[in-house]
Amino acid sequence: MSTHVRYSIIIPMYNEEAVIQETYRRIKKVMETTGEAYELLFVNDGSTDNCAQMIEEYSYWDESVKLIDFSRNFGHQIAITAGMDYALGDAVVIIDADLQDPPELILDMIREWNNGYEVVYAKRVKRNGESLFKKWTASLFYRVLRYSTDISIPVDTGDFRLIDRKVCEELKRLPEKNRFVRGLVSWVGFRQKAIEYERDERLAGETKYPLKRMIKLSLDGITSFSYKPLKLAGYLGGLLSAAGFLYLMYVLYLVLFTDAAVKGWASMIGITLTFNGFVLIMLGILGEYVGRIYDETKRRPLYIVQDFYSGKQQQGAVEQRVAQLHK
Ligand code: UDP
Ligand code: MG
Repeated sequence: MSTHVRYSIIIPMYNEEAVIQETYRRIKKVMETTGEAYELLFVNDGSTDNCAQMIEEYSYWDESVKLIDFSRNFGHQIAITAGMDYALGDAVVIIDADLQDPPELILDMIREWNNGYEVVYAKRVKRNGESLFKKWTASLFYRVLRYSTDISIPVDTGDFRLIDRKVCEELKRLPEKNRFVRGLVSWVGFRQKAIEYERDERLAGETKYPLKRMIKLSLDGITSFSYKPLKLAGYLGGLLSAAGFLYLMYVLYLVLFTDAAVKGWASMIGITLTFNGFVLIMLGILGEYVGRIYDETKRRPLYIVQDFYSGKQQQGAVEQRVAQLHK
């Protein structure tokens, strides 16, 4: 049977064995209600647990299940990108594997898509069960991003969204390495629509986004869409040299026209350290950009797929397994 695929659901997963069966079940249930052909495209981003094997099994007896199996961990944003490269559907949905994004919302997205929107993204009005620290840093990040970029990237939205085939094709033409997918989706434009939801707690397992990765993602977001941090160096430099010059004039005046001895060992050290600090910070910012330029020039592929499973190739091996898993 090869019907035209209407919906592709991309599910990136990294060590999600604790949740993946339930995720599969819930998404499947939602997609069945559409009555149209769909595919569940799981991307295994180098997991070291059993989640990939589980999905591989499902793919033997469920034709809608496909598995893109990376050769190692390439990162969440790259996993999504691979999903888009493989997706066949007229509409493509990206959803987390941990059920923090309620699959039931996909139906609302599809409704808006049928109303003519090419991008329907889910906006978090509330986050349940996440630490205050995560909420604050996330909120700060979205606001810095909004301030520093020229395109408007909606605040408080993750990658949970539906995109039309047209948008998917445009995204596939963007070859950049350090990807911030939600920003790229804004960048390509088209008619976009937000729907609001409360973000749930992770069903099980723990976050795969420790602080270090969040910082990397934030830097990718800001540096891919803005030069403002670089300009900052110019502004700061201007300001500081102006202040320095004024102070020098004042000191000259003291030396030439008064008897006051010019003091200031402590202030000199203070100023030196502060200013050297500024210079190093600016070098660091510059480094963020230079590093990204370096990444682009290497022209390596974004990811390596070691295996691709789709039910069609594996048929036959399976009937008993179905019986087993459905008990
Ligand atoms: N993920 C991934 N590769 C990674 C890290 C995360 O594919 O290197 C997946 C993860 O399995 C999940 C989604 O990306 O489906 C979001 O990750 P997570 O839920 O840990 O992030 P959080 O919701 O805590 O921000
Ligand atoms: Mg999560």
